[in-house]
Amino acid sequence: MLYIIFLTGVCNLRCRYCGGTIPEEVMPREVQYKIEDLRRFIEKDTDAVVAFYGGEPLLRIPLMLRMMDSLPAKRFVIQTNGFFLDKIPLSYLNRLDAILVSIDGREKITDYYRGHRVYRMVVDKVRKIRPHYGGDIIARMAVSEESDIYEEVTHLLSLPFDHVHWQLNVVWSPEGSWHDFDSWVHHSYNLGITRLAGLWIENLKRGKILGIVPFLGIIKRMLFGGEGLPCGAGRDAFAIATDGRILACPIGGEFEWNELGDIWSRGPEELCNSVDVEEPCKSCDIYPICGGRCLFANKERLWGENGFTKICGTVRHIVNEMERAREVVEILIQEGIFRREDFFYPSFNNTTEIIP
Ligand code: SF4
Ligand code: SF4
Repeated sequence: MLYIIFLTGVCNLRCRYCGGTIPEEVMPREVQYKIEDLRRFIEKDTDAVVAFYGGEPLLRIPLMLRMMDSLPAKRFVIQTNGFFLDKIPLSYLNRLDAILVSIDGREKITDYYRGHRVYRMVVDKVRKIRPHYGGDIIARMAVSEESDIYEEVTHLLSLPFDHVHWQLNVVWSPEGSWHDFDSWVHHSYNLGITRLAGLWIENLKRGKILGIVPFLGIIKRMLFGGEGLPCGAGRDAFAIATDGRILACPIGGEFEWNELGDIWSRGPEELCNSVDVEEPCKSCDIYPICGGRCLFANKERLWGENGFTKICGTVRHIVNEMERAREVVEILIQEGIFRREDFFYPSFNNTTEIIP
């Protein structure tokens, strides 16, 4: 299972859609439990993936290194804003199987949402570690009204990232933070997805698989199956708050449905399949592929039923585009250009939630 560990609630940035440091009333700023207690909890799972999270987890590098030395995880992952990537000792850096770096695409878009000169800082740090790091570096975007999905993704693919993933800024922000979501979806996002799918297919025909995570994750479901939420929240992915509470989803430590006990009183096995999405997902025709997209959005419906349906429209569009791509993928596999397993990405839950 996947364990998302909050190393701190503190963040050195204040991005527009996030607000930075997690309020003290949601969870304490610093880890309150002993690493030994977390080790005892995780060691009952022989297939553990540990992902470091925050706040900004690299503000607590010594704690992270102690956890990497102590926790019996098969794989380690980090989600970071990238500012302190070059501070990780090389021997530990290369024990990370995936590094997800927050960046929103082109310089003007990243700096607009994340702050002045953030783009340059992040790209500089990624360039610094790239020659020394053999694992998967994933650009992780929050996509909002200023974003042009085609331009942002193709730009990031031109940088030293192996993969690009994104989440729409629609779960955790109130609808009022958009001027005109409907128009953006219709005139920008869906058209960009179609164009991006075309680019992806063209590259496949030339023998190249572009590392676009939502496309890969959807094709993986189409080829290999799979069940429920791709992020695994509440099923086989859980977050551990700084005070040792166990959460189904790392977003929203303050919601009752999200709290599943703590590391002292619960074990990994009994946590499995604790929380699931509700209707309309279970009877949706594309549920086998979408899986309900996001547990948080399904439970909270911050945009109401109408808003929920609008977001589903974006999922339907990307899934339709991937139906088109799937036909090409199947032909190329038959022709021996690719092996089926070339499309088995991600090979483990690396915290990319697949459906944007
Ligand atoms: S498209 Fe919407 S209703 Fe259908 S499974 Fe996904 S989130 Fe649920
Ligand atoms: S996709 Fe939604 S439910 Fe899953 S981890 Fe992200 S915010 Fe939580």
